[in-house]
Amino acid sequence: MYIPIPDLRQAKNLLVVSPHPDDAEIAAGGTIALLAEAGARITYAMVTDGSRGGLEPGVPEAQLAATRRAEQEQAAEVLGVDDIIWLGFEDTEVPGPEVVREPLISLIREIQPDFVISLDPWLPYEAHPDHRRTSMAAVEACLFAGLPMVQPEDLERGLIPRQVTGVALALSPKPNTFIGIDRTWEKKVQALRCHRSQFPSQVWEMFYPVILAKSQEYGNKANATVGEAFKVLTTAHLHVMVDTWEA
Ligand SMILES: [Zn+2]
Repeated sequence: MYIPIPDLRQAKNLLVVSPHPDDAEIAAGGTIALLAEAGARITYAMVTDGSRGGLEPGVPEAQLAATRRAEQEQAAEVLGVDDIIWLGFEDTEVPGPEVVREPLISLIREIQPDFVISLDPWLPYEAHPDHRRTSMAAVEACLFAGLPMVQPEDLERGLIPRQVTGVALALSPKPNTFIGIDRTWEKKVQALRCHRSQFPSQVWEMFYPVILAKSQEYGNKANATVGEAFKVLTTAHLHVMVDTWEA
């Protein structure tokens, strides 16, 4: 591999791009808490409000959106997240990456992150379009945020083009970075449990053993009991690089 993989553990200013409330905690909650404890500034970009992700029929969308917003705020506080930006796209109807990347490019230029965490858009069996489109928009935004001729109106209002150091893709079929999260595991679990609309007790009883087993598998690779996994890349890996699949 000709381009070195940057070290996510060194992130000082992190932007987390999540399709729905709860995805950031599921995919990366332990790592987010570790980085926050180390003093990193953490911003969430929440693409939808999760207003159709309910398990009970008949709940008005606006009511579920308010519930999930409150749950997400609580979970973010547990992990030490500084700020949540709600992008306001419709749950289950996230448009294509050419639409969603626009506010993400502006946000990267505004907050100047060194690392962006999102999901891996090349997870082959991901059926949820919000996940596919959000994650693709995130990598496209990382690729374009440094190019001044893309969205030049950003520069007219004082934003500065930004080339991020690294893009960390969680829920990846080809992870290259394993981070032990023993110290923050309890925070991750507590943050997940804030999403009560998503994890009522009967769902939690099924979900917890699965996430624990996967976290133990990743922990093994990081000399820890539990861990999280990412495909960490530079923006250079994200264009005309035939070896990135194995990076
Ligand atoms: Zn989701």
